[in-house]
Amino acid sequence: MGRGVDPPRSARGRPVTAAAAATETGDAFARVAGRPDVVAQLRAAVAAPLHAYLLVGPDGSGAAAAAAAFAAALLCPLGGCGRCRDCRLALAGEHPDAVTFAPEGAFLRMSDAEEIARVAVRSPLEGNRKVLVLSDFHRVRHVGPALLKTIEEPPETTVFVILADTVPPELVTIASRCVRIEMTPVPVEALVELLVDEDVDTAAARVAAEAAGGSLGRAQLLVTDPGLAARREAWARAPERLDGTGAAACVVASELLELVEAAAEPLRRAQAEEAAELEERAATTGERGTGRAQFEASQRRALRRHRTEELRFGLATLAARYRDHLAGADAGSELSALLAAVDAITTATVALARNPNETLLLQALLVGLPSLASGEHAPSAQSSASVSRP
Ligand SMILES: [Zn+2]
Repeated sequence: MGRGVDPPRSARGRPVTAAAAATETGDAFARVAGRPDVVAQLRAAVAAPLHAYLLVGPDGSGAAAAAAAFAAALLCPLGGCGRCRDCRLALAGEHPDAVTFAPEGAFLRMSDAEEIARVAVRSPLEGNRKVLVLSDFHRVRHVGPALLKTIEEPPETTVFVILADTVPPELVTIASRCVRIEMTPVPVEALVELLVDEDVDTAAARVAAEAAGGSLGRAQLLVTDPGLAARREAWARAPERLDGTGAAACVVASELLELVEAAAEPLRRAQAEEAAELEERAATTGERGTGRAQFEASQRRALRRHRTEELRFGLATLAARYRDHLAGADAGSELSALLAAVDAITTATVALARNPNETLLLQALLVGLPSLASGEHAPSAQSSASVSRP
């Protein structure tokens, strides 16, 4: 399957890194894939940027790639040629005037806010502009007010690009001072196209795209994940194994959670490679320690997010299984049991955002779901299976 460990070019000769793609196409935005609307907005802003932009969308939504491309375009004398030194450095995350901040702990600390404020008022080191990318800013919590003034009135030369998964109440005031750009989910068809462009075969691309929840990052990870089909099957078949008892619910819940845990393996491998690369670079440049804690914290966050995405995918697969039975259900109690099941799964999915005890959440959900006992084998088949109330 197509994607190796960040080679400069893919098997079909396509550039793989953002910097390589930009150089080839002469466009800093070359790798901001599947979001022509976002690219158009950012491009239009390059000539006369305002003081702050807020990109809202989960990890994997492409917000980080969009921010890097926007930073390159803002620093490039040609507005994002993709080829000059400014573009190349900014796209590689190494431009001295494109500074990225990510909270090291679970939330931003006052010391983080002070550091951001300090860097924001400093003059650019090289050109006439400085871009501050504030990553994971939904975790601003109580330091928001301390940064408000800096973000709404930075020096003329400073542009903020703020990234947030969502806009929690404590981010609302800052958000109101920014140009807000939504990173909506990438449509499945666009994801398939992007993956095929990266040399993934069409069938595998489709499977990954459908399980990716609109995230290119997750889709790219899923194509390297041989366990995807088995996990989908396990979630789809769970209703056949339920019988309304707590015992069955516990067994199924613990098996599904083991799969969720195992699903992080490709990500762990990729992270280990990233860490090794960082080590190697530190060894050759002699820069050691800087950003290390930040790097590790961001890896831990990526793992946590991966877990939530995986559970969301599992629950969506489970809901689809009940939905598939709706068409063949009798209009009475059978139909209402199926509808209640879909509702309960939706409620559990929403609850994931509150960081619940996953085992308890899943057990409580499964014990209340009707069994779909049947002799059928195709998990997504429309069907004649009987629904029995536990
Ligand atoms: Zn350039």
